[in-house]
Amino acid sequence: MSDERARRLVIVGGGPSGLAAAWKASAEAQRAGAALEVVVLEADARVGGKARTGFADGLLIETGPQGFLDDQPVLREMIAACGLAEEVIEPEPAANRRYIYRGGKLRQLQRSPLAFARSGLLGPFGLARLAMEPLAPARPGGDDRLGAGTWSSSSPAPTAPARQGGDDRLGAGVLTSGDATPHTDESLFDFAARRMGRQAAARLISPVVLGIFAGDARRLSAAAAFPRLVAMEQAHGSLFKAMRAGRKRGVPPPGHRTFRRGIEALPRAAAALPGIDVACNRRVTAIQHRGGGFAVTSSAGGLAADAVVVAADLPSAADLVDGVSPAAAEELRQIESPPIAVVHTAFEVAAAAHIEPAYGFLVARGEGIRMLGCQYETATFSGRSPEDRFLTRSMYGGSVDPDAAELDDDALIELTLRELRRTVGIDATPTSTSVARWPHAIPQYAPGHPQRVARIEAALDPIDGFYLAGNVLNGVGLSRAVAVGAECGERAAKRLLA
Ligand SMILES: Cc1cc2nc3c(=O)[nH]c(=O)nc-3n(C[C@H](O)[C@H](O)[C@H](O)COP(=O)(O)OP(=O)(O)OC[C@H]3O[C@@H](n4cnc5c(N)ncnc54)[C@H](O)[C@@H]3O)c2cc1C
Repeated sequence: MSDERARRLVIVGGGPSGLAAAWKASAEAQRAGAALEVVVLEADARVGGKARTGFADGLLIETGPQGFLDDQPVLREMIAACGLAEEVIEPEPAANRRYIYRGGKLRQLQRSPLAFARSGLLGPFGLARLAMEPLAPARPGGDDRLGAGTWSSSSPAPTAPARQGGDDRLGAGVLTSGDATPHTDESLFDFAARRMGRQAAARLISPVVLGIFAGDARRLSAAAAFPRLVAMEQAHGSLFKAMRAGRKRGVPPPGHRTFRRGIEALPRAAAALPGIDVACNRRVTAIQHRGGGFAVTSSAGGLAADAVVVAADLPSAADLVDGVSPAAAEELRQIESPPIAVVHTAFEVAAAAHIEPAYGFLVARGEGIRMLGCQYETATFSGRSPEDRFLTRSMYGGSVDPDAAELDDDALIELTLRELRRTVGIDATPTSTSVARWPHAIPQYAPGHPQRVARIEAALDPIDGFYLAGNVLNGVGLSRAVAVGAECGERAAKRLLA
């Protein structure tokens, strides 16, 4: 690399993670008073990745994340740097109310044990087994590597289900992210069944997992996908005891937040920060490690880089890593990332007058309903719909039913209307509808993921100046993707400016 020009950091992917890397790298250069060229190459025509907000018919349509978990100080820092601190909004109080559709009806996730018992979510045997959770022996710790927090992970239901602040798309609000202590890996279902009984694992935890990963609890790693649950068991021997201890310490759970004008406000503002050069419509097709630097090939030609952060989603991330480490790429290709379709339907508010305002509901499998869950956007954050409209957002697909995400738009809308009629009794013609698709929506951290992460990191570690960001390895939620991106940006800048 020439000594005459400023050192160049190329970031592949202008989603939340890539832009966090760019912001942090450029802030680091400014702090050091040094010149650093920060270039973001984004394949799409606009930045934001899955953080995408649309506006139509007076509605604010979130096709990807609807909000974020306020659990990462660095995300708060980025929001402030983007001038968005005053734009952050909290959920409406009604969003504390959440339901699971099971046994042909909506059942509210209740906070008090008595109300929970009456909700009918669990039968007498399931309730009795759940009550014995504190007595279930803790699994001895191992020495396996763990993934970091997801956008919402850990901690089961009945005593604290419906609290404000769960940042899952459809989840029960019972899960918060956090670091875990070492433990051998097992599936989330096995973990939940061991601690709370199989009925609670099937009827409570499995639907919640649909809301977070659109995934199958039997095919997700407890340690990687829900590290805090595992940590709670390790630290307290019981999830209930851990929750009780948390309440005693009076530490509030991280809140669910978004921006007044939608989630895309963050990537848009970050891309406009000084010191960052963003190029859209630039799909990177290859990265090669050459002579102490990197040759980055994109649809616009070649670019030399002194360091590279890959913040692309799967499967693109795997293809790009292939140029520097085929072994790491092979590991990345093993991580499933199934499709999701997001269907928005708006109705005259009178059609939903009988519906109690709430966050929405998740659907237990085996109910003959393909919808993974439905959020009442109108009741969750203010400003999502005009006063005379009721806006819902329903999800299809994921690893449990990928074919549903492939249905054509008309079929998906028809299915949504049928299923809304059956689940919540909305029987009206929508005033507007829209369908968004994510062919590779959310990485699925399968059992063994922590070990895979360790192998990938070991393969990439010797490649000086190459960093893998995004939500592929260390937490699928936006806040974690931002934290990982910021860390990669900071490390890259420090290395280049040393
Ligand atoms: C339906 C849905 C709902 C979600 N809801 C929530 C939620 O409520 N809360 C939450 O915290 N998280 C949620 N998530 C997860 C959230 O979207 C991710 O955490 C976040 O988008 C990750 O950011 P990222 O930058 O790592 O990846 P992405 O947002 O996927 O961005 C990756 C970027 O890389 C670009 N790219 C890919 N390949 C290339 C290439 N070869 N060259 C150049 N650019 C490339 C892409 O175009 C994209 O812009 C949701 C996800 C989905 C799909």
